[in-house]
Amino acid sequence: MNQATLVLIKPDGLKKSLTGNILTRLSETKLDIVGARIVKVSRDLAQKHYAMLKDKPFFEDLLKYLMGEYHKKKVMALVYYGEDAIQKVRDICGATNPEEADPVSIRGAYGRITTKGVYENVIHASANPEESEREIKLWFSPDEIIFDLYNTTAVKKSIETRVWA
Ligand code: UDP
Ligand code: MG
Repeated sequence: MNQATLVLIKPDGLKKSLTGNILTRLSETKLDIVGARIVKVSRDLAQKHYAMLKDKPFFEDLLKYLMGEYHKKKVMALVYYGEDAIQKVRDICGATNPEEADPVSIRGAYGRITTKGVYENVIHASANPEESEREIKLWFSPDEIIFDLYNTTAVKKSIETRVWA
């Protein structure tokens, strides 16, 4: 079954210049990239992304990590699409704990555990279809993905927005 999954190259991945390596590893899956953005992550976005971990003792450090306070203030967000996309990407990422991850996985090769106990594991990937839908809708608007993954609706917005001067 075709699925979409959200991938984030986290700030440590960008700081360590791993973008090329990670994209090359992910290309082994033969999945399609259908959306890509470089994002400066706000506290609000980080909180929403990791909402289910809000009671964990490492939550505050996790927010700072995703916002780039320890590395670079940016994240690369991608949507991969294709057959069994969620599991294929998770397999290449490896286990959450970089010390337990297969050494040839992305996290096993490049991740580390900080002295504060946060797993800096260079990449995020959605874990299941409910999570991927929630996360893709959080990080991307419909027009930033090359086809409509989910139903859309038209709304008239009259908010002030910035344009190039
Ligand atoms: N994390 C951590 N310590 C833990 C569990 C998770 O620092 O004991 C961080 C880690 O960066 C992980 C993120 O929180 O990628 C989200 O945790 P989750 O359990 O969803 O793992 P994932 O889906 O990323 O493998
Ligand atoms: Mg997760």
